Amino acid sequence: MTGAQKGPPVLEPGESMHACVPMAIQVVIDDAGWWSSEDGSARNEPFRSGCVRDHVISDYAAIIELGRRLGMRPQAAMVLCEWDRANILRALPSSTWLGERWDNSRRVGPWLDQAVACLREGAAHVELALHGVGHEFWSGGRLSRAEWHDQNGQMRPPAELRAHLDFFRRLLDQNGLGVFPSAFVPAAFLHSFGSGLAGILAEYGIRFISTPYGKIFRKRETEDACFGIEDGVLTVDRGNDLARWNVTGVTPDGEIPGPVCGMHWPNLLHADPARNSGVVEGWVKFLKPYDSRFDRMLAPDTASGFSQLVYHRWTKLAGDATGVALDFSKPAATGAAGLLNTFYLKVRAAANASFRADGLTILDARREPDQWRLLLQRTPGQTRARLEKM
Ligand SMILES: [Zn+2]
Repeated sequence: MTGAQKGPPVLEPGESMHACVPMAIQVVIDDAGWWSSEDGSARNEPFRSGCVRDHVISDYAAIIELGRRLGMRPQAAMVLCEWDRANILRALPSSTWLGERWDNSRRVGPWLDQAVACLREGAAHVELALHGVGHEFWSGGRLSRAEWHDQNGQMRPPAELRAHLDFFRRLLDQNGLGVFPSAFVPAAFLHSFGSGLAGILAEYGIRFISTPYGKIFRKRETEDACFGIEDGVLTVDRGNDLARWNVTGVTPDGEIPGPVCGMHWPNLLHADPARNSGVVEGWVKFLKPYDSRFDRMLAPDTASGFSQLVYHRWTKLAGDATGVALDFSKPAATGAAGLLNTFYLKVRAAANASFRADGLTILDARREPDQWRLLLQRTPGQTRARLEKM
């Protein structure tokens, strides 16, 4: 993460109203969906999750518990090949290590329905994202990293990509896992901005991509240091994870400078699944303070978190003694299909303050210990607005 701290729109105290469009943090958890945890990369199989044990229902409950404790919907970026109840992936040999001989029967059992029930019950606190069908790409039976782009940033052939997306949808349908996700995390973070993958993903309803810019290939520069827009899809810099991908049970430490707290599923789990809550607790303690900061907050979900990033970077604020003027000319012109017309503003004002807006609707005004958190909705067609303190 490089540009996130450059020129955030914060007004300094003094004569002016002290206001800030905070940068939100969304939690993104990769490699969910595997039942086997084995790193099989040495023998032509996927890296999988690398957890010290196989996965169980309470590993999904851990994601939901994290979301519930933080008032968020973390992204579970899913790999679905081990959910194949009818061996449909035999018809898509590039998606698995067994190709046309694919046989998933030993992974099919009551735990599939149990996991679906867990995810449905916790739907307010988890959001499924697309990560992959088999995570890698098998060409002539040989593994090549990774599913969507190769290690030189070369996109897989469009017909193959669409087939992988069609089969991902069929696996969602087979299992009753809901509608196609709106968010995507590239497998192995192999992604090329401007390659055309975003446009193909958009056909399936993807609106948001997150991946570390430190590893991204670029056909062209992104519009902002923190995000780019390709075929209407917002591509956000994930920054660096705090832990290695295959470490089970992490006690997080460090700083999240950008819009994503990225991790891999084992990082949130304990070697003993009955003790997952203890690991979740560590992440809750680490993340919660961001929500009460003036310049940061936790994202309720991906659409609001990544929209908030655009408003954070591109809204112009000009404060004076009675209020603050907002200019949305730049965010309004992004062309990002998933950009919401709502965003959060934090304001330092007296506990008994009230607010009036012109060109905006105040959907919510919540008093916090040191500030106000306002949820504002832009008036369609207007790129300028004003918020007054009364
Ligand atoms: Zn992955």
